[in-house]
Amino acid sequence: TRTRRVVVLGATGSIGRNTLEVIAHLNGSSGGPRPFEVVALAAGSDAAGLAGAAAAWPRARCSLASLGGDAPPGWLRGPGSAERLVREASADLVVAAVVGVAGLRPVLAAIDAGADVALANKEVLVAAGELVMRRASRSGSRLLPVDSEHAGVLQCLAGHPRERVRRVVLTASGGPFRDRTAVEVADATPDEAVAHPNWDMGPKISVDSATMMNKALELVEAHHLFGLRADQLDAIIHPQSIVHAIVEYEDGGVLAQLGAADMRGPIQAALAWPDRPAGCGERLDLLRLGGLTFRSADPHRFPALGLAQRVMAAGGTAGAVFNAANEAAVAAFLERRVPFGRIVGLVSSALDALPPRPVARLEDVLDADAAARRFVGDAVGSPPAA
Ligand code: NDP
Ligand code: MG
Repeated sequence: TRTRRVVVLGATGSIGRNTLEVIAHLNGSSGGPRPFEVVALAAGSDAAGLAGAAAAWPRARCSLASLGGDAPPGWLRGPGSAERLVREASADLVVAAVVGVAGLRPVLAAIDAGADVALANKEVLVAAGELVMRRASRSGSRLLPVDSEHAGVLQCLAGHPRERVRRVVLTASGGPFRDRTAVEVADATPDEAVAHPNWDMGPKISVDSATMMNKALELVEAHHLFGLRADQLDAIIHPQSIVHAIVEYEDGGVLAQLGAADMRGPIQAALAWPDRPAGCGERLDLLRLGGLTFRSADPHRFPALGLAQRVMAAGGTAGAVFNAANEAAVAAFLERRVPFGRIVGLVSSALDALPPRPVARLEDVLDADAAARRFVGDAVGSPPAA
């Protein structure tokens, strides 16, 4: 098989760095021609980190979204640079590991070019799922989930008729505040919120795990990715993060996907799909683990889950509002301008204030995104002057 040309968007982040490690592993262990060549790398503002990532791929093109600071000559710069990088890359596969809706235009560019997309960047599907899925089915581009739960669902679905799926359950670790009440965590600090018990992730998704918004975003992500109705989707708490997804069929059979809490597993599953070559991640040892436990996710304790149901039912721009309000509220929390306990309430209020409209074009998504950010900005007050 020929070498596949790969673009890594968000190369300096947690998923991006793990992706480059998996690629190095698969290239090193293939025995034959290298399966992957990294032809382009994109990041937000970390020029040094990007230069480090590019050191192993001296011919790769690089882009940085920020215009501040120094960068080597020849790098693309500015907010539209990742999208341009994708357009000019003639890639076979684009790994989308940017955080936030900033990844939307680059992912659409990958889809329109007919490239496969290994998607970690869940905000893209939450904000613009209808548009993204429409464009992917038009171009024939495959969306391969990297999010561990969705990678698990895909594996449980393989070889079975979709119309025989009764229910899909995503597991949630419950995050760092799983065993504490809402009142106890209302004033939690950013440091406490990002200290996740099982996963080492970027700051935004770590806060999302603490609020349970991460699972809410993932329910909406699964709704679009797999064409499941809201009433077919559920989340349960599984503190060990070993079972990632559960698919229940009409005949009562239930398939689950298990794996160590190590993102190199799902990343490799997407890159090599449907092949399953030797991996470089942690291996699962069930005997050492002892037990797996499950419990229901209390909708009163975790109101984010109810918002996900509401967003799936509403459709249209509701996802864009949901996602953008959360991004803005999380950013305000990380800047210590909003208490932890207010994040989900802000998202809920944004959904109340901004009724859903149909999505015909990208601009419909971007307008709803901007309105939600303005709403949260007004609700929390403007940031302190620089
Ligand atoms: P990080 O914060 O670690 O990394 C984010 C990456 O995005 C960085 O490379 C950052 O660059 C880059 N970036 C930010 N803004 C832009 C922009 N405008 N243009 C181009 N690149 C940009 O996040 P994670 O790796 O943890 O998460 C990435 C995505 O994957 C998120 O959507 C998250 O929800 C999802 N995900 C993550 C998991 C994990 O285990 N970490 C698990 C499942 C899903 P810079 O360094 O320069 O700021
Ligand atoms: Mg996940």
